[in-house]
Amino acid sequence: MFENLTTRLGRVLDSIRGQGRLTEEQIAAASRELRMALLEADVALPVVKDFIDKVRTRALGVEITQSLTPGQEFLRVVQQELTATLGGVTEPLNLRAQPPAIILMAGLQGAGKTTSTGKLALWLKEQKKKVIVVSGDVYRPAAIEQLRIVAGNVGVEFFPSAVGQNPVDIARAALAEARKQYADVLIVDTAGRTTVDEEMMTEIAALHAALDPVETLFVVDSMTGQDAANTARAFADRLPLTGVILTKVDGDARGGAALSVRQVTGKPIKFLGVGEKSDRLEVFHPDRIATRILGQGDMLSLIEETARKVDQEKAQKFAAKLKKTKSFDLEDFREQMLQMQNMGSMQSILEKLPGGAQMQAQLKNVDAEKQVRRTIAIINSMTKQERRFPDLIKASRKRRIAAGAGVEVQQVNQLMRQFDTTRDMMKKVASGGMAKMMRGLAG
Ligand code: GDP
Repeated sequence: MFENLTTRLGRVLDSIRGQGRLTEEQIAAASRELRMALLEADVALPVVKDFIDKVRTRALGVEITQSLTPGQEFLRVVQQELTATLGGVTEPLNLRAQPPAIILMAGLQGAGKTTSTGKLALWLKEQKKKVIVVSGDVYRPAAIEQLRIVAGNVGVEFFPSAVGQNPVDIARAALAEARKQYADVLIVDTAGRTTVDEEMMTEIAALHAALDPVETLFVVDSMTGQDAANTARAFADRLPLTGVILTKVDGDARGGAALSVRQVTGKPIKFLGVGEKSDRLEVFHPDRIATRILGQGDMLSLIEETARKVDQEKAQKFAAKLKKTKSFDLEDFREQMLQMQNMGSMQSILEKLPGGAQMQAQLKNVDAEKQVRRTIAIINSMTKQERRFPDLIKASRKRRIAAGAGVEVQQVNQLMRQFDTTRDMMKKVASGGMAKMMRGLAG
């Protein structure tokens, strides 16, 4: 996500990081570079101009504190202005309405409306909300079927609709059903066209008038760059949007849409879609995205994501067992690998670590997920006894295991070494806790 922009900005900041004093010329030069970087990222021109003006003015007027070098001061100014451009503060989803809270999804065809409807439904369900989804796309039976499948996958209720019905009638019926079931949230997916057209606008405006939704979210593909902001403005002119969901950010190296949308439309980005799967949705925090764009990672989001994906109950059980038995076998090892798979893609973890963008570039050819899958396959081809008592695994057993998993013996050896190291570490954790292990690592 946004790796080109991060790399470019990194270079600008590196060039002044070490400077003892920042002269006017240096600030002007850095501002020019920043401008180029933003234009390359496809940020809308007025947004770029405004941003650069603010950075330059503030950088010139900045009082150099004793604790920060001029380079760090400049970085701080850029970071603050990036945060402001992205919207300043986090704008949470508003559900403060007489239940059911209605969320209307708007956007062009292919932007990711139906996918985002499913993601949002899952996100709300995880917060113990009862969610019902309905499709108002009465032109494409495939769209209704897609929503039905998505709803089934994430485990929320789907209110059926059919081609040829009136979208307003469908929505009213769904609302009546949501009330009857005491649902907390009703999400209404709508039809999209390939371009903004009058008929589509009239239809969605009628839906809005009939439903009076508490949230009207505009779903837009971030890969379209600053066009995303322009399309959002066209919708905002006709529909009182309350926020934006920016999709396909996982494939967007530039970041132009993220940086333009708020300034061009005045509407806050509320979520990012970062993958095709239903759990690939992130709450949009302007300050965290700013630090991520500047290559400084986003540990807060990483911790939250881990907490969301890792099975807390299992993790606690494992910790208790480890403490009690002080033993760690290959079944435990496999369990850890499975948990890692749940965490989502390695890419999404890496890009939230400070300097992760560079790491990602270095690791381009290493398919970490494939390795995790292979490790699990090897452990699966062991007998239960072998998993419990790994020391049984000698040459002939290794050959059998390798053949079973379709790998070389060498790869079984590699796994056993990895397991030994992990077991040693776990024993240290079990006997002396984290502090002792850290000392061990340091020494
Ligand atoms: P709709 O026509 O607006 O309802 O769009 P869909 O929800 O059908 O999405 C169109 C395509 O974009 C599908 O292939 C989705 O899998 C894909 N898509 C949606 N959101 C994301 C995302 O955040 N990341 C990626 N990589 N693909 C996405």
